[in-house]
Amino acid sequence: MIVPFVDLKAQYISLKDEIDSAISTVIEKTAFIGGSFVSDFEKDFARLYGVKHCISTANGTDSLYIVMKMLGIGEGDEVITVANSWISSSETISQTGAKPVFVDINKDYYSIDEHLLEAAITKSTKCIIPVHLHGQMCNMDMIMAISNKHSIPVLEDCAQSHFSELNGQRAGTIGIAGSFSFYPGKNLGAYGDAGCIITNDDDLAMKCKMYARHGALKKHQHEIEGINSRLDGLQASILQVKLPHILKWTDNRISRAAKYYQLLSNIENVILPKVRENSKHSYHLFVIRAERRDELAQYLKNKGIETAIHYPTALPNLKAYEYLGYSELEFPVSTNFQDKILSLPMYPELTDEMINYVAGTISDFYNQITN
Ligand SMILES: *Cc1c(COP(=O)(O)O)cnc(C)c1O
Repeated sequence: MIVPFVDLKAQYISLKDEIDSAISTVIEKTAFIGGSFVSDFEKDFARLYGVKHCISTANGTDSLYIVMKMLGIGEGDEVITVANSWISSSETISQTGAKPVFVDINKDYYSIDEHLLEAAITKSTKCIIPVHLHGQMCNMDMIMAISNKHSIPVLEDCAQSHFSELNGQRAGTIGIAGSFSFYPGKNLGAYGDAGCIITNDDDLAMKCKMYARHGALKKHQHEIEGINSRLDGLQASILQVKLPHILKWTDNRISRAAKYYQLLSNIENVILPKVRENSKHSYHLFVIRAERRDELAQYLKNKGIETAIHYPTALPNLKAYEYLGYSELEFPVSTNFQDKILSLPMYPELTDEMINYVAGTISDFYNQITN
């Protein structure tokens, strides 16, 4: 049996007629940039998500950058984010001219260690970017308490947490803004790059929209210099077809995860992800910690099972951040987990047979090495 890490084709096939027709309509109407496909998607996403504003962007990296720029962050400032994430979370901080400050991860939940956050704050800290990694939200109660105490805005990186919840609140609706990616492999994925910003703050929404559209809300009336970060009509029309299915797909991911928990919970050499109380994990990724991880991954690969590592090197340990002068010892949890974490296949279309096969093969690997 072959179990790919993700299977974007399966989802396309399930919606083929609608997607093909949406694409031809956009072409027919030559609504390539701007227009009703984009504004309809923004409205519908905001309504379904339960926020006032959705500003579409070209990708999730831009979303982070745009919000920070519009919060006035730049040279001389510091922005706190987490040591284990995709590089966009920190790269965009540097792009504004500010300095990225990393905080280690919580060993149970893989996201920013809320107990280390306050110690990282200095007079120069202008923003905190928690990343709801793998689909599970960070401890937002504590993060918001610290944010309020120091009057530092929180920008939630929700690229992996569409429709995740904590205490009944959705990811991206707790801080000043939420940043989303619709990269094809994300829980809600376009057929190219795409992203958005959500916020309930009218002023910030207006500024972000203006900045992403060359600093102009009306054609040729450039109030500031901005950037070009647009969602195109084709991507918007594809996302619009997919949007009504996202909650069902999220439920499917949760049921796929439940199957993994059931089958893997008695394998001693594997640590399964822990879920916070009162939270809805949207399982963008199903990440285990495994003894002899690299050998296990190779064994699975030989048996037709694709896995991945998110991420093989913690951000401060990357060559790109050598100049900040951090030592691996400052991020013991992230550094230690680099060699243990393994992302198993996870998508709504994953069948019971496939999960049985993945779990059975993991079990075979450990039986074989211990015998
Ligand atoms: C995917 C991702 C991004 C960036 O999104 P793009 O649309 O690829 O630019 C940012 N942060 C995290 C945590 C991500 O996983």
